[in-house]
Amino acid sequence: MPTRKTRVLVTGAGGFIGHHLVNYLKHQGYWVRGADLKRPEFAASAADEFRLLDLRLREDCLGATQGIEEVYALAADMGGMGFISAHHAQILHNNALINIHTLEAARASGARRYLFTSSACVYPEFLQTTAEVRPLREEDAYPADPQDAYGWEKLITERLCAHYRMDYGLETRMVRFHNIFGPLGTYQGGREKAPAALCRKVAEAKLTGKAVIEIWGDGEQTRSFCYIDDCVEGLCRLMRSEYREPLNLGQDRMVTINQLADLIAEIAGVRLEKRHVPGPQGVRGRNSDNTRLRQVLGWEPRVSLEEGLARTYAWIEGELARQLGGGESQEELCLTATR
Ligand code: NAD
Repeated sequence: MPTRKTRVLVTGAGGFIGHHLVNYLKHQGYWVRGADLKRPEFAASAADEFRLLDLRLREDCLGATQGIEEVYALAADMGGMGFISAHHAQILHNNALINIHTLEAARASGARRYLFTSSACVYPEFLQTTAEVRPLREEDAYPADPQDAYGWEKLITERLCAHYRMDYGLETRMVRFHNIFGPLGTYQGGREKAPAALCRKVAEAKLTGKAVIEIWGDGEQTRSFCYIDDCVEGLCRLMRSEYREPLNLGQDRMVTINQLADLIAEIAGVRLEKRHVPGPQGVRGRNSDNTRLRQVLGWEPRVSLEEGLARTYAWIEGELARQLGGGESQEELCLTATR
């Protein structure tokens, strides 16, 4: 059993999910070390200690895991479809180094538990060719055929985690996220994902009086989206559980990208035309089968898409308004967004 003094490492603590996870763990009373190439972009970290490290390097991983009992491994070179579909070699190279060295350092440092953040991108492309796709069960990952190098690397690291448990007794846990979104995540610059990108496009249109937003492809590709508060709670529940196989963590309500854009426009209170332009779209359809999640954790995500989008949109519109010179302070907006 963990105690309030359990020493936890969160890698990728300067990123979107890692930053929220550090906050959550601190509220639970853990001692937390964050590690990342950079500090969080939008708010100060609540970590007891924050180390700026390059986790592709063995020595840096050993420094990060020193004295640590539990590791949440979130560091990754990643982004939305635009980034993932254009940087295969970089993603496979960097993430393989990060994951191999972090896992080995955790073992060498005597950590007891290790949670690896995998992705729905591990699922085979041939099961995701239509918009009305059957929800993906954990066992669907094999025979393997992920669409991108990003998915292959996640799948290999899942195997590595399983072997570290079997060969070395390190208690590994593996989660497969399905599109996590929320405030304090990247919303511009090329690494942003669909919900943040669409919130930004709608907010830009609203603030500048434009009547059109661009959507990549025909917008009929489908996905499910999970709010960040549910994500971090699910992560901690999985770490505490005795379940040792990969587990989906996401919502199982599927919407098209067009529907997602319409929901955001409705939240913003604007009517916008959607212009469909060429762009990377990923698989045609994807949804999470949450049967095992419910069985294993006795729990599933509960924040509705509408509620999550409202909080996310409010934060992103505030950020853009501030950039344009007329908005509330970022601090005020963060408080509203995380309530
Ligand atoms: P993010 O990009 O916001 O955070 C990742 C962090 O890793 C960044 O802060 C980055 O600086 C850091 N990092 C990258 N290279 C590093 C290095 N060499 N050394 C140290 N730190 C490094 O991404 P996120 O959305 O918070 O995702 C967290 C984890 O969850 C990742 O492993 C990601 O693959 C996985 N995941 C996320 C989603 C999602 O929808 N957000 C979906 C599936 C899987």
